[in-house]
Amino acid sequence: MSPVVDLVLPPAEAWQAQARAARISTADLLAHIGLIAADFAEGVIAQPDFPLSVPPHYLSLIRRGDPADPLLLQVLARGEEALPQPGRLTDPLEEADYRAAPGVLRKYRSRALLIASGACAIHCRYCFRRHTDYGAAMLTRSGEAEALAVISGDAAIDEVILSGGDPLSLTDARLTALVSAIAAIPHVTTLRLHSRTFLAIPDRVTPALVDLLACTRLTVVIVTHSNHEREISHDVAAALGRLRAAGVTLLNQSVLLAQVNDDATTIAAHCRRLFAAGVLPYYLHLTDPVDGAAHFDVDESRARGIETELRAALPGYLVPRIVREVPGETGKTPLWALPT
Ligand code: SF4
Repeated sequence: MSPVVDLVLPPAEAWQAQARAARISTADLLAHIGLIAADFAEGVIAQPDFPLSVPPHYLSLIRRGDPADPLLLQVLARGEEALPQPGRLTDPLEEADYRAAPGVLRKYRSRALLIASGACAIHCRYCFRRHTDYGAAMLTRSGEAEALAVISGDAAIDEVILSGGDPLSLTDARLTALVSAIAAIPHVTTLRLHSRTFLAIPDRVTPALVDLLACTRLTVVIVTHSNHEREISHDVAAALGRLRAAGVTLLNQSVLLAQVNDDATTIAAHCRRLFAAGVLPYYLHLTDPVDGAAHFDVDESRARGIETELRAALPGYLVPRIVREVPGETGKTPLWALPT
């Protein structure tokens, strides 16, 4: 079995050690949680093309002996992934069409998105970029000048979004250089980072990262990608607290996932837990039709029922907007606007 890292290291080294320890085989994951392939309806995939990656902190949150554990289901390659899935796509949002330069996506007039890294601490089985060829899609050091020229050349861009992969898989030194270059563009006012690393490796919130985010002239928004209240552990809440103390606005977007969070009670508990940790629920995404993830789909009529229940259960400011990304649309399409 792969060792679970429990090293007493300075924070910068601790998170990198956890990232290195995240690669785990299906067999080792099952052994760690005391389950076997036959515990799952369609079995498991021993060597998936999209390999498993589960950092030790996240692994510690998975319930042993429970094949329905909602955290486990997000990271285990179940046999359903290999079933025929007609109509599913490798680039469901047609992102290749929005590439303004290598590593730059331009979907919206006032925002530019940088694919800052092709790596993620945790591999999520429902990921819509699970088939992305990051070699061709991500920002490289040699392409950085061209990418920044796209942004500096268009005064309409006031917000730069760092995405991936996961931008927090970059080192603090690399992030500092990138953020400094973005902050040097006068018309950019806001930096947004989308990351799931904080949930998987809370040690990623290092003193250097906090300093960077606190000291940049840019307004910083971080969108965490949590799907279940049990992902907001004590350590994660403490890490989010350090980000808030740095003046960062924290929002969360989730994906509505079958067997993980597809009921109003679970989502309402998650929203309250997020709020207690200083994070506002923002979006709840319907799944994208990516190949290999059809078993996570929740149909729209069920989503409508969940939305009605959430409105009754939560104050308005805690109800996430249920949306779908529709290729070609200029924004996310709210559930109420989708054809019935
Ligand atoms: S962290 Fe985000 S980009 Fe990375 S695998 Fe998970 S969903 Fe995909």
